[in-house]
Amino acid sequence: MPLLILVILVGAILLIPKTAEGFVRGQAVTLQVESIEDFGCVLRSDAARAWNEMKSDAAAEGVTLTPKGPNSAFRTHEQQETMLAERPDYAAQVDHSPHQAGIAVDVDLTKSRALDWLLTNGPDYGWHPLSSSGAKKEPWHFEFLGAPT
Ligand SMILES: [Zn+2]
Repeated sequence: MPLLILVILVGAILLIPKTAEGFVRGQAVTLQVESIEDFGCVLRSDAARAWNEMKSDAAAEGVTLTPKGPNSAFRTHEQQETMLAERPDYAAQVDHSPHQAGIAVDVDLTKSRALDWLLTNGPDYGWHPLSSSGAKKEPWHFEFLGAPT
């Protein structure tokens, strides 16, 4: 295959948006998702971009923002089922978790100053310390509510 065609094909593949099957308040939706790098996690594209910008700005101040693990950002239906089975006190009902909408991150609060930094600066990036799902209040759970205007 001529090199030019190969380059064009690879470029086209990289430009195709990644999608994931999500749920918003019980309704199945196809989400455009982007990586937030750690643990292979993804989020809805706008939330991912805001997270990545926030993470980079925090890093410039010596603060590490990272999810707790591979199930700490976007979750599939199956992942939420597993989470609910393992942690019925905390996890939201299946297909009603903001994690399935791709707008929530459970943040690793063992990182120095991560919580203080997020509480102070998160809202400037649209990230808020709350749970819209009705699950028990969790200090590590942050949700993207849209960029501030
Ligand atoms: Zn959470």
